[in-house]
Amino acid sequence: MRNRRAALALLASAASLALTLTACGQNGEGGSKEKPGDTKGATIGIAMPTKSSERWISDGKNVVKDLEAKGYKTKLVYGEDDPEQQVSQIENLITQGVKGLIIAAIDNKSLNSVLQQAADAGIPVISYDRLILGSKNVDYYASFDNEKVGRLQGQYIVDKLGLGKGGKGPFNIELFAGSNDDNNTRYFFDGAMSVLKPYLDSKQLVVRSGQTALNKVTTLRWDGATAQRRMDDILTSSYKSERVDAVLSPYDGISIGVLSALKSDGYGSGSKPLPVITGQDAELASVKSIIGGQQTQTVYKDLRKLAEVASTMIDDLLKDKKPQVNDVKSYDNGTKVVPAYLLQPVSVDKTNYEDVLVKGGYYTDAQLK
Ligand code: BGC
Repeated sequence: MRNRRAALALLASAASLALTLTACGQNGEGGSKEKPGDTKGATIGIAMPTKSSERWISDGKNVVKDLEAKGYKTKLVYGEDDPEQQVSQIENLITQGVKGLIIAAIDNKSLNSVLQQAADAGIPVISYDRLILGSKNVDYYASFDNEKVGRLQGQYIVDKLGLGKGGKGPFNIELFAGSNDDNNTRYFFDGAMSVLKPYLDSKQLVVRSGQTALNKVTTLRWDGATAQRRMDDILTSSYKSERVDAVLSPYDGISIGVLSALKSDGYGSGSKPLPVITGQDAELASVKSIIGGQQTQTVYKDLRKLAEVASTMIDDLLKDKKPQVNDVKSYDNGTKVVPAYLLQPVSVDKTNYEDVLVKGGYYTDAQLK
């Protein structure tokens, strides 16, 4: 790895080569002498965003397990949704001498300077699930096809309302998006809107709140309580005798908040059925909610595969092997297009959760009771 960086620096300029060698020297490890493949006992730092959502807890465990199976030691930290805390955690990991970093960013634009420190120390960086923006020091990106996540949510709503099959509407829909500091938010929203827009244009779908622009519908840090408050407000201001027929929700935690607001307003009883409501992550509480007929859909992303992709990428980089990628054009982080490996998301509802989640070994039947 260090050899690769030094070679790149040589191409760029003699001056930056000198800097690179100085940095390796400061490490006291004589970077250019290190043998490729000599990674035994190396420690990889893993920075995850928060323990407040089940998915990131699984991500942490899965990545640790995969790296340990490859012979690495690991240091796993959680930033509790505080961008500054995450920066200082990554600084600490660098100081502690990790040889590679796997990072799921909290604020995608706050890591520029700490990633420069990582680059100066010759540490490769994998952007995990969320693309880190504005830094050239991101080596690879491991994620899902994020636009497709949004398309699956939008298409589910269209199908469930029968819009594609002659259903005319108009149906009332409200839109929710994720955190504005997460690069995925835009991809999810754009994907969903690419499917919903024709029906909004033809007025078969109507957003009674009028809140349709991304900057009007985001939910800071993906917080369910924030979404619940916004849904409360919308119900009070825009729905007197009218009913909400569908809610685009990008994430299970947001769906749960939205459902609470709807239930407080009397939805879920005979004359006022719950709307179609989407989600993402197949978190346990939401899958149970789907089985119980409350949330309608979620998008399942197999986190075991994501962990495998990210840990193989870092292992390859440390062994001077080129990681496998399947997308070299979609993820421009503002300074470079980051080569990516994207996995496929799957739409899950009451009709297929057993096949996808239980037969797929993600949950046991007992967990879903
Ligand atoms: C992830 C989603 C997750 C959301 C909230 C996004 O970056 O891709 O899977 O639902 O963050 O944690």
